[in-house]
Amino acid sequence: MNHTNKNELAVRNRFLFQLFLVSCFLFLVSCAQQEPSRTEIALGNTLCTITLFKHGNENIYNEIFNKIREIENLMSVNIPSSDISRINAAAGIESVQVHAEVFKVIERAVYFANVSDGAFDPTVGPLVALWGINTGSENIPSQHKIDEVLPLVNWRNIELDESNTSVFLTQRGMSLDLGAIAKGYAADSAAKIIRDANITRALIDLGGNIIVIGERSANVPWRVGIQKPGHKRGESIVTLQLTDKTIVTSGVYERYFKENGKHYHHLFEPFSGYPADNGLLSVTIVMDVSMDADALSTAVFVLGYERGLVLLESFPEVEAIFIFENMEIRSTNRLN
Ligand code: ADP
Ligand code: MG
Repeated sequence: MNHTNKNELAVRNRFLFQLFLVSCFLFLVSCAQQEPSRTEIALGNTLCTITLFKHGNENIYNEIFNKIREIENLMSVNIPSSDISRINAAAGIESVQVHAEVFKVIERAVYFANVSDGAFDPTVGPLVALWGINTGSENIPSQHKIDEVLPLVNWRNIELDESNTSVFLTQRGMSLDLGAIAKGYAADSAAKIIRDANITRALIDLGGNIIVIGERSANVPWRVGIQKPGHKRGESIVTLQLTDKTIVTSGVYERYFKENGKHYHHLFEPFSGYPADNGLLSVTIVMDVSMDADALSTAVFVLGYERGLVLLESFPEVEAIFIFENMEIRSTNRLN
């Protein structure tokens, strides 16, 4: 090969290399196409919205929603192959080895059952099934039926073996329901993915289980409204200003049915077997960990205002906002 040919070859190679770089760049740009926000239905018909603003792209949303679906597939009572369904099917028969994440959430649920004296109880499964709220076949069960299932609702009959992450429900007919805590765990998992990607400004909303990451803009906090119970969705009764917090509400106004002029909602008092009826319409918890906020919002709601405040004394970093049936608002006033 003579000198000229060598030069020509070098020029051509350089050109091909530049072409390669340009196509790589175009490929990356198309991969990283901006997607400010994504909404999907997951976690048992929950509207889940993640907003990453200019950091949003297909890949990270896919990662987050895949994680949320993975959690649903592990923890839903409505998915027969989930770890929770497997535990329930083996109630009174044998222990079931579960995914480490499932074990962790059950352990935390048991912790909140313990500190709330059973007001929060992850073994409410039989009551949830009996009342059938939001299933289309809701009904007021007979006292006889309630009395029949009440002995099955007892978190003390959950046996946990940490050495092999296995779970045993000691009585036949018992069933776990993580409906009051799993969404919070899913929100924390989404937040972890976002923070690990060094994204410092984001919003996570899993059906009202909210996490705000960072600030809305420099030195400006996020503004998060608390739903005015019984009014149009999105109409707020209070607006909170928050940075890097989770806000979780348990309320009676979304999942309920009406019979003889009375509301029957989905937050059960595990000792009576009836929906908690204590003058509250909602309890909102503001803190750092969404799983804990989810469990606490349900626990405090079921305990009611006075006993709820006593429980909250053990959680000094937590703010709670109570909305009463007469629309009165009270809060622990620890924020600001
Ligand atoms: P939502 O899921 O509507 O946001 P919660 O987080 O308060 O509200 O969870 C309510 C769900 O928790 C119910 O649908 C039921 O599955 C379950 N649950 C109901 N009562 C209790 C209770 N006392 N302890 C634990 N879980 C409960
Ligand atoms: Mg909850």
